[in-house]
Amino acid sequence: MVRISHIKIRKDISEKELLETVIAKNKIRKSDILEWYISKKSIDARKKDDVHYLYAIDLKLKNETKYKNLNQVRNLPIPEIQANAISCKKVVIVGAGPSGLFAALTCIQNGIIPIVIEQGDCVEKRKLNVDTFLKKGKLNELSNVQFGEGGAGTFSDGKLTTNINSPFCKKVLQEFVNFGAPKEILYLSKPHIGTDHLIHIIKRMRKYIISKGGTFLFNTKVIDFEIKYGKIKSVFCLNQNKEQKISATHVILAIGHSSRDTFKKLYERGIKMEKKNFSVGVRIEHLQKDINKAQYGEITKLKLPPANYKLAYHAPSGRSCYTFCMCPGGVVMASSSEKNTIVSNGMSNFARDGKNANSALLVNVTSADFKSTSPLAGIYFQKDLEEKAFKLGGSNYFAPIQRVEDFLQNKKSNFIGTIKPTYLPGVTLSNLNDILPEFVSSTLKEGIKYFDTKLHGFANPDSILTGIETRSSSPVRILRNKNLISNILGLYPCGEGARLRWRHYVCCS
Ligand SMILES: Cc1cc2nc3c(=O)[nH]c(=O)nc-3n(C[C@H](O)[C@H](O)[C@H](O)COP(=O)(O)OP(=O)(O)OC[C@H]3O[C@@H](n4cnc5c(N)ncnc54)[C@H](O)[C@@H]3O)c2cc1C
Repeated sequence: MVRISHIKIRKDISEKELLETVIAKNKIRKSDILEWYISKKSIDARKKDDVHYLYAIDLKLKNETKYKNLNQVRNLPIPEIQANAISCKKVVIVGAGPSGLFAALTCIQNGIIPIVIEQGDCVEKRKLNVDTFLKKGKLNELSNVQFGEGGAGTFSDGKLTTNINSPFCKKVLQEFVNFGAPKEILYLSKPHIGTDHLIHIIKRMRKYIISKGGTFLFNTKVIDFEIKYGKIKSVFCLNQNKEQKISATHVILAIGHSSRDTFKKLYERGIKMEKKNFSVGVRIEHLQKDINKAQYGEITKLKLPPANYKLAYHAPSGRSCYTFCMCPGGVVMASSSEKNTIVSNGMSNFARDGKNANSALLVNVTSADFKSTSPLAGIYFQKDLEEKAFKLGGSNYFAPIQRVEDFLQNKKSNFIGTIKPTYLPGVTLSNLNDILPEFVSSTLKEGIKYFDTKLHGFANPDSILTGIETRSSSPVRILRNKNLISNILGLYPCGEGARLRWRHYVCCS
């Protein structure tokens, strides 16, 4: 293959027109093209008077050696994950989030038939549980925005970006496309799927795994683990008050970061874990049109997607404030998974066509901030804040919100301005300074003012802050050895709470 990169395009064009532009410029004969595809597409908006697309395309050409001026590339094949089917006699996967689902798929691709146990509902019914909570404030503690098939990211933006550089990232994207995601996720610099598409993709994945012999047990919670002589023997599950024991030679623990009772049980059973740094803060909402203007300027005629941003500030105190999980054209999502708590997060549909943009605005928290030395101390820290937010919101699952101007002046908001909050089931005007730890409040204030110098309008007085964002990453890490096994033989932690690295999905040694 040859790759042509840094192709600047200053108007909206079709793929056909793109190809024609490229072959004309590089003097390529059309009849020499055997195959071609876009390998990268991004937006360069650094100069507001010259916003343009940047493309790279890969071509397979007849007589490639004839085109000496073009760069040859060797696209590495997607690596295969190999597992030993014979040693994996009975594989149980706890959790049907992204890590559990991909673990199940990988098992199937290696001739291993897994049982997937998920405390929440299948994705279709789970959507109803979430809708009931958003409309009526009735929380189902086992099936909600954090729990259920598809995991925590289902009611999300479906952002597919990661800081890790692993060849398995390509496999994940390709599998999503195989199950119906748009092909563009393979080449966009910031791909996303959107909640509306994710739900169907996950359903297709499950159907495929079942068609190959896999089993899904929904509404079934793993409540205990049988361990004998340092080896996992079985898991105990509860389904509608009925207890069941399922024996297993290998258990993949894909429980995410919010299954607090499961972490507690694992700790009681002697599974080694440690507390881990994470971040807390609020969601911030702006008008998407203001973010577009700040990022793209006013001159461009291109039909650009809703703009995003990523900002960071390092305070003299040593703390950092940063934006995370920015959702263009999205809504702030009620993400509680426990009674009497408020947890915020963000989501968007594929079109990202909502009026507001939102992102998490976070400050780092270290284990020195926790009151206890227990590995579960971070969970207690999160829970305390979530309960305070619940009370501040009126103890009815309404989230406490505040205008940015009022937050900066430490006074309770008494009106909503030009930017309307999107959080459901409802919001309560509050002073978030009343519940945030002082170091979080002060670092957020410094961060907001600094970000306004980088992204005009970030500190718009009417911007809405919604409390409280506590689940940006796991407060606990289950320890593993270099073969990815916990201190219990046959017990493999993966995904959130074990750090997300794709190679962790290999289930067998
Ligand atoms: C609203 C929201 C938006 C997000 N947006 C994005 C985004 O756009 N992009 C992104 O990359 N990340 C996003 N995230 C984060 C992302 O969802 C997580 O990083 C990801 O889901 C972690 O995957 P996981 O499989 O490790 O865990 P999870 O997705 O948390 O899945 C764990 C599953 O295990 C189940 N489980 C736990 N304990 C038990 C038990 N004892 N028995 C049975 N089942 C159990 C849970 O019910 C859950 O379904 C978002 C998160 C939220 C909440």
